[in-house]
Amino acid sequence: MLRKILIANRGEIACRVIKSARAMGIATVAVHVAADAGALFVRQADEAWHLAGESYLDIDGILAVARASGADAIHPGYGFLSENPAFARACDAAGIVFIGPREAALATMGSKSAAKTLLEQSAIPLVPGYHGDEQIPPRLAAEADRIGYPVLIKACSGGGGKGMRIVARREDFAAELAACQREAAASFGDERVLIEKYLQAPRHIEIQVFADSHGQCVYLFERDCSVQRRHQKVVEEAPAPGLSAEMRRAMGETACAVARAVDYLGAGTVEFIVDGDSGDYFFMEMNTRLQVEHPVTEMVTGLDLVAWQIRVAQGEPLPLTQAQLTLQGHAIEARLYAEDPQAGFLPSCGTLTHWQPPALTEGVRIDTGVSGGDTITPLFDPMLAKLIVWGPTRDEALARMAQALAAFQVDGVMTNFGFLHKLITHPAFCNGIVDTGFIERHQAALLPPRLPPAPTALALLALADTLAAQPAGTGAWDGALPGWRLGGAAATRHWTYRWRDETHAVTVSRQNGACRIEAGGETFVVADAQWQAPRLTARLNSQRLAATVLARGAARTLFWQGERWTLTWDDPLVADAAHAQDSGHLRAPMPGRVVALCAEAGVRVKKGTALLIMEAMKMEHTLFAPADGQVGAYHFAPGAQVAEGMDLLDFEAQDDTP
Ligand code: ADP
Ligand code: ADP
Ligand code: MG
Repeated sequence: MLRKILIANRGEIACRVIKSARAMGIATVAVHVAADAGALFVRQADEAWHLAGESYLDIDGILAVARASGADAIHPGYGFLSENPAFARACDAAGIVFIGPREAALATMGSKSAAKTLLEQSAIPLVPGYHGDEQIPPRLAAEADRIGYPVLIKACSGGGGKGMRIVARREDFAAELAACQREAAASFGDERVLIEKYLQAPRHIEIQVFADSHGQCVYLFERDCSVQRRHQKVVEEAPAPGLSAEMRRAMGETACAVARAVDYLGAGTVEFIVDGDSGDYFFMEMNTRLQVEHPVTEMVTGLDLVAWQIRVAQGEPLPLTQAQLTLQGHAIEARLYAEDPQAGFLPSCGTLTHWQPPALTEGVRIDTGVSGGDTITPLFDPMLAKLIVWGPTRDEALARMAQALAAFQVDGVMTNFGFLHKLITHPAFCNGIVDTGFIERHQAALLPPRLPPAPTALALLALADTLAAQPAGTGAWDGALPGWRLGGAAATRHWTYRWRDETHAVTVSRQNGACRIEAGGETFVVADAQWQAPRLTARLNSQRLAATVLARGAARTLFWQGERWTLTWDDPLVADAAHAQDSGHLRAPMPGRVVALCAEAGVRVKKGTALLIMEAMKMEHTLFAPADGQVGAYHFAPGAQVAEGMDLLDFEAQDDTP
């Protein structure tokens, strides 16, 4: 029995392994680099050790921690060292259990060509292609001719969608081959390539397999991972839409045959590419580890795959036989990233100033390695979380996904949430029409130009700002807005927001006990407004609405109906400074109270020196010297209430003409 597991990984996967180990009464050891010292997985583990070598690839450093901490096993997660035969061997040599397959299986499946060479001796269907040792360009070109264009050149040691090139025409082959070899050598330290027939609009369907040390091997059904971007999975689901029971069984049995061919142990995934027209399926590669998308299988089988991995590593037989495994309902996973879809999905770095995952209601699961206040750095993959939903049917799972995605609020980084929401609500996806070209084909619908907040959203934003400006403790709309009446009879507030290069003006006014908002050319009658920062609820023209508004200084983040906008409030205090400079006065940019005078009449000050502090809208605002110059007379004492536009002090800007 294992007592203590070291996790040679970080982030979400480390958290995932900790969860299962803890449930089994096994202690966990985290290893981390300096940048991860405060990370969630480091906090969750029973022990955490800093890797002196500052690298998750440092085999010796990891083994040194394993020995020092008394760990009897290592879980490699996925990525990093998980598919590295040298790591499995080093664990063996150190007498530490490697939770994964044996070294030989890692080595064979680590090369796409070695895997195909082994499997061609059995009846496993392979994508038509060439995976031989002879790598001279004329031979490869001749093979491409034989296979027929279009072809795909793949790095034998490639992974993660990297090192792949589609060649449509024979005249482009030589140049693409050279580029692919260069990329393969640089990324994987192995320039060998293989060539495959490039299938048009295929599906990616993979089978989860499990083998124990007693000769049993089962398949835990399939996952459809066809929705990809640059050959990388974006959304995964189980079961695969439209897959017949016969095909499921045939693919499952083929996957087990693949596993047996390499004397497999533990969790593995056999990836197939499926021809859209004929339904023929072909072996692509085997991933010798737990997959990112394993939760989808857990949701439809009700099993804990990490617990299974640990049991197999302990030498136990598989907990269930093939006949005992059942598939229930439908599960979908979406990968949530800190990236900007509008900017070519560029990773987005920053601090998660707001992190509000949806409630974990029935059928909703979130696997994450981050929490509020964490920073997304360029050092690692910018994945924020995996959102996994389950429903009795695909439609119900999709509805839950849409709802959970819309409720997920994050600020501080750009996200792909909006893109994912459009994807999973797209009619073609909802109808289960998926293939690997889906995203590219529907690009226009999935990445529409950004629109400014709708008038209703702007009205909610201004209402939140108005209510936030009320005296403390009164979140409800009671009409008593101090200062409103100072300027005259009409109780009106003007709000100006900037969104990108647009300006949006909103007016909130109260008259005869009714509140109205004018925004974007529309008029809204407000009732039952409740502000409990950062949440606003109100009836606008009788419709019950809710929004979240985050305010930090002049910055506003508005969440409404599953979308996010970042705006800037045009603070009149700031806007007025320039004006004041011309007129020789500093004016009250809004109604409020004078709190403090910061300088004395007659002194010379530098531009930017604080001159007066006002309190308005529950916040203190400082008026600064708009230029180098001389402070004149102050017109009010601290405590005085002032109306918008009143002269607060005289100020004479220094004349710097020579
Ligand atoms: P990786 O190791 O990067 O995962 P794979 O061989 O698994 O590489 O391929 C990744 C993706 O590339 C597949 O899921 C599929 O979308 C696409 N792909 C791979 N082989 C083919 C092929 N022969 N024809 C069309 N698309 C392919
Ligand atoms: P802008 O307002 O200029 O469009 P944002 O920084 O608000 O810029 O970014 C909008 C992005 O926020 C969109 O790409 C969208 O995918 C993403 N997004 C949408 N909904 C949410 C949400 N609930 N939480 C976090 N990000 C979201
Ligand atoms: Mg793959």
